[in-house]
Amino acid sequence: MPELPEVETIVRALQSNVGAGIKHIEIKREDILRLQEFSVLELQGQNIKNIRRRGKFLIFELGRDLNLIFHLGMSGRFYMLASAEEPAEKHVHVIVHLNNGINLVYQDPRRFGGVWLVKERERFFRNMGREPLSPDFSATYLEDILKYRKAPVKNLLLNQNLISGIGNIYADESLFAAGIRPDRPAGSLSRQDIKKLHRSIRKVLRQGIELRGTTFRDYRDAFNESGGFQDYLKVYGRHNQPCPQCGQPIERIRIGGRSTHFCTNCQR
Ligand SMILES: [Zn+2]
Repeated sequence: MPELPEVETIVRALQSNVGAGIKHIEIKREDILRLQEFSVLELQGQNIKNIRRRGKFLIFELGRDLNLIFHLGMSGRFYMLASAEEPAEKHVHVIVHLNNGINLVYQDPRRFGGVWLVKERERFFRNMGREPLSPDFSATYLEDILKYRKAPVKNLLLNQNLISGIGNIYADESLFAAGIRPDRPAGSLSRQDIKKLHRSIRKVLRQGIELRGTTFRDYRDAFNESGGFQDYLKVYGRHNQPCPQCGQPIERIRIGGRSTHFCTNCQR
């Protein structure tokens, strides 16, 4: 599933389209539109003021109070094509035709993602947790959201209302980097553990962005190409393979319905 580093990678590549105008938007499947606070026709002729990310959402800021928001769900892709080219792939739900010779293509075979036409961004994101790479995501904040909680620490890292943008891959990798078992009750972490985890989360996410995301199955970047972080995964998707630190086989368990990878020797 595309997480913070993957969506960030896409957003950065899309920046070249800021300033371009929308000629028209082709919606191939109406049910992919999750919310329409205005008609899609209102976006025609609008210029892209900004393209940004919030959590795992990709946001196009158009005119005043016109935001076109995408989520890639489990298997979604968002990429650029020259306007003369036809998307070769199936499950293309939206094509945004720009006046700079580029088409933006959104596809999502499993349709866990979606498209939102939103007036007020702040209201739409009001329940979203803090951005883990922003200055307000401090070790103290992490401590505040973990303390007294009996839930496994991994569940809380995945809770988008507490921290936005972390999914299964980067949760497992961050916990490995911090040496903390994913099934530990969150409230049992010491101050030292929390500081380590805080550093690890930021480090792993930054590495993910630097390497242009993780292509485990479906993810492709804005050029429809694979990321690079999959070659650096230490535990995620490495069930029964040797731990890169101690050589013991990596365990896989289920936590909160999500498959979870860790080393019983290096993570306590
Ligand atoms: Zn190990």
